Amino acid sequence: LNTGPSYDPAIADALGRGRRVARELLAPRAEESDQAAVPPAENVRALAVEGLLGLNVPRAYGGLGALGAALREHTETLAAACGVTTFVQGQHQSACAFISAGASEPIKERLLPPMATGDLLGAVAFSHLRRPGPPAVRATPVAGGFVLDGTAPWVTGWGLMRVAVMGGTLPDDRLLYAVIPLEESEHLCASPPMRLCAMSASATVAVTLRGLFVPETEVLKTITREQMAATDAGAILLVTPQPFGVTRASIALLRDLADRRDRALFRQVAETLERELEEVRARTEHWIGRTTDPDYAASALSIRAWAVELGVRAAHAALAASGGSGNALDHPAQRLVRESVFYTLVAQTSSVQAAVLQRLRDRSWHPGGGDGAPT
Ligand SMILES: Cc1cc2nc3c(=O)[nH]c(=O)nc-3n(C[C@H](O)[C@H](O)[C@H](O)COP(=O)(O)OP(=O)(O)OC[C@H]3O[C@@H](n4cnc5c(N)ncnc54)[C@H](O)[C@@H]3O)c2cc1C
Repeated sequence: LNTGPSYDPAIADALGRGRRVARELLAPRAEESDQAAVPPAENVRALAVEGLLGLNVPRAYGGLGALGAALREHTETLAAACGVTTFVQGQHQSACAFISAGASEPIKERLLPPMATGDLLGAVAFSHLRRPGPPAVRATPVAGGFVLDGTAPWVTGWGLMRVAVMGGTLPDDRLLYAVIPLEESEHLCASPPMRLCAMSASATVAVTLRGLFVPETEVLKTITREQMAATDAGAILLVTPQPFGVTRASIALLRDLADRRDRALFRQVAETLERELEEVRARTEHWIGRTTDPDYAASALSIRAWAVELGVRAAHAALAASGGSGNALDHPAQRLVRESVFYTLVAQTSSVQAAVLQRLRDRSWHPGGGDGAPT
């Protein structure tokens, strides 16, 4: 990993604190956090105390101003320790990034300093904008602002997050992003937290809006569908650190089992996976900033699909090596499998979905030859 001297000292220190919180607090209770009925508030608090919830908030607003590689390294560290904590704090980080990139200075001055300290946590609710068909959330212009109606099907961190960056579709099909308070009212109600295969403790709900007024001053941006698609294309590789983290944790589990059970094969598998992880991580770092290269989209999509599939495969290997006990809910192997599967779905666009499926198709056995044929 790209650690150390290339980072600004304040950021390098912060990453060190993140590694310590991950090792000492998040990893030892990862199964407990995964199985809990409520989101991991204490873990998130511990990250806040270390200044890590403001990692990507600009320094002018009380954050550390970390970008790119430092953020990816931090996310991978957390994801190797505890998936649900990584996910919940990641949604807050996305809200911070959105607000920081917005044009409204008053919103930044009001929200970013408490978001950087973790006194105010933010959610995001805009993946529904990517869905084809009738809008999930409609934004209707009215005097002084907009009125939102509809259901945002996925909002993580209910009960922890006090504000959300909400997306809605305008009558002319442009997309509006605005900050709303995330509190129950006659205009906003949440479903019970969803019971999920993975990230069940992320307090993910569907939020229904009925005539929620959003003043113009709370609008972050209005963009076209084409602009959203361009942003999505630039973000294809931003969510690779999560499957890399799950891969790393799976490799560590394989090594641990190799030592405890004296199994050379487990160690060989761990080493093979480690080399593959290094390769796909290096390719990610190569392509992530090259969004204007004509080969970017195809390369980024195939790397994302590789990262997702490697995570699932590594977790599966760790499960296979764990044997029957790996199926117990207090065993890390089954948790890693479920988290790796989740990384297949989150921040999925139709291009990412197609890339993952193409990879799985191409690696499948085909009559008359091809990869995967039994020998
Ligand atoms: C536990 C959990 C928590 C989440 N939390 C949040 C959150 O806090 N905020 C948030 O914004 N999102 C959140 N998401 C949403 C997540 O990012 C989405 O799962 C992802 O964007 C895919 O969207 P979807 O599940 O709504 O896809 P679906 O609408 O089911 O579609 C699946 C894929 O197929 C494509 N597609 C669907 N129909 C068609 C069609 N007719 N033609 C072509 N392509 C099509 C979609 O673009 C998508 O890529 C969460 C998801 C999960 C599982």
